[in-house]
Amino acid sequence: MKIICVGRNYRKHAEELGNKVPDEPVLFMKPDSAILRQRDAFYIPDFSSDVHYEAEIVVKLNRLGKRIQSKFAHKYYAEFTVGIDFTARDVQAKLKAKGLPWEKAKGFDSSAVCGKWLPVGDYDMSNLSFELKKNGQVVQSGNTSEMLFSIDEIIDYTSQYFTLKIGDQIFTGTPEGVGPVAHGDILEGFVEGTKVLEVKVK
Ligand code: ZN
Repeated sequence: MKIICVGRNYRKHAEELGNKVPDEPVLFMKPDSAILRQRDAFYIPDFSSDVHYEAEIVVKLNRLGKRIQSKFAHKYYAEFTVGIDFTARDVQAKLKAKGLPWEKAKGFDSSAVCGKWLPVGDYDMSNLSFELKKNGQVVQSGNTSEMLFSIDEIIDYTSQYFTLKIGDQIFTGTPEGVGPVAHGDILEGFVEGTKVLEVKVK
C-alpha cells in the first residue's frame, strides 16, 4: 500500500509556514515503512531536533481506481480517522531551501500514525471537526469544511496520476497550529469530540 499526503490544504496552515496558498493540490508520499507499528509510542529520530506534529483527517481506500471523478470519489473509501503526519521540520527546511524532494523529512520510519478507523457513513465528511491535544491542551482544531480541496477533489486529482489501491491511505492536510514534540509528550486525536488516537512521544 502507499500513503499519499496533501500539503497546504488549509489556508491558515499554508500561511503559518510562509507558503503560498496553492491553486492545485500539493502531493507527496510516504512509504509503507512509515506506518507506526507499535501504535502507542513515537520515537523522535536522531537526525532531527525539530519534529512537528500535523494532525490530519486520513481516509482509507477500499476500491481500486484511476481517473476517479470527484462525483464518484465517495464510493472509494468507507473508513477514516485522525492521523499524524510527523514532519522533521528542520530537515524539510533544508530540503525546501535547495528545491529538493521532502521524503527524508516526511517519509521516515514511524512518521505516519493513524487512529482508530471510523465508518464514513456515520459522519458528514464535508463538515467534520477534529482536534489534536498535546499534554491535554488543544493545539490544533480543524474542520474539513475549511479544506482548500475536498476529500473527493483530492481523490479525483490524485487518481489522475496514481492508481489508487485497496488499503492506500490519504492524509488530507493539516490545519494551523503545527508545532514541535518533545520526549514525554502525549498526543491525542479527536473526531467530533470522540478520542480516536493516543501516542506517547519518546
Ligand atoms: Zn501534513
